[in-house]
Amino acid sequence: MVEPGALLYEGKAKKVYATPSPDRVVVEYKDDATAFNGQKRGTIEGKGAVNNRMSNLFFRLLEAHGVPTHFVEELSERRTVVRRVDIVPVEVVVRNLAAGSMAARLGIPEGTALRRPIVEFYYKNDELGDPLVTPDHVEVLGWASAEELEEIRRLALRVNEVLGEFLAAQNVRLVDFKLEFGRTGDGRIVLADEISPDTCRFWDLKTGEKLDKDRFRRDLGGVEQAYQEMMRRVEGGLGR
Ligand code: UDP
Repeated sequence: MVEPGALLYEGKAKKVYATPSPDRVVVEYKDDATAFNGQKRGTIEGKGAVNNRMSNLFFRLLEAHGVPTHFVEELSERRTVVRRVDIVPVEVVVRNLAAGSMAARLGIPEGTALRRPIVEFYYKNDELGDPLVTPDHVEVLGWASAEELEEIRRLALRVNEVLGEFLAAQNVRLVDFKLEFGRTGDGRIVLADEISPDTCRFWDLKTGEKLDKDRFRRDLGGVEQAYQEMMRRVEGGLGR
């Protein structure tokens, strides 16, 4: 059993602890929720446990489909051992339907279908509000090499295929989601961070009901129930 050591970092939704092994850390998922770059704050009861478990189930599914991830071992309801990586300071968003910031910025109705998935990059910087950037910014400013960026793009689209197909079978439309990638000690790119209702838009395939953090962002009510319902569908799809 890995016992978490010193607190290395505390973010909005997670804490990260050292372990005796220099290339492993423990992440702990919190129930704290923020939106609009920290301007809206709250608590979503049970969210930490859902996000921990769902991320780990998705990481294992993705590993089985050839996507390398930082996942090592689930320790408890809220804690997981992951590989220590250098996070590439770029948030990678994949979109299948226009929603959220894309719909608002370009004046496109939410739910508009896209001919093919769109991959976007945002510079991870809270003070600047995570600005949208181009692949040239990422490369020229040295956040990732051209080769790394190509690999990140390929993996992000693969994640979209694997999760999109899995979720459709659970009656869930994968509208869009955000990924983060890291570099391992030996320089390989792996999927990191989390994949959860905090970082994805999940819409019921038939009714369009939102089953994700937009219920919190937009004060739609039924936030906890939506997280639990998504957990139930994901576990059901994996026969758990
Ligand atoms: N997202 C995220 N973290 C962020 C910004 C976005 O996890 O800091 C996710 C969000 O949940 C959605 C997707 O990325 O699934 C696209 O988000 P969008 O750019 O539409 O921004 P938002 O509407 O969330 O501000």
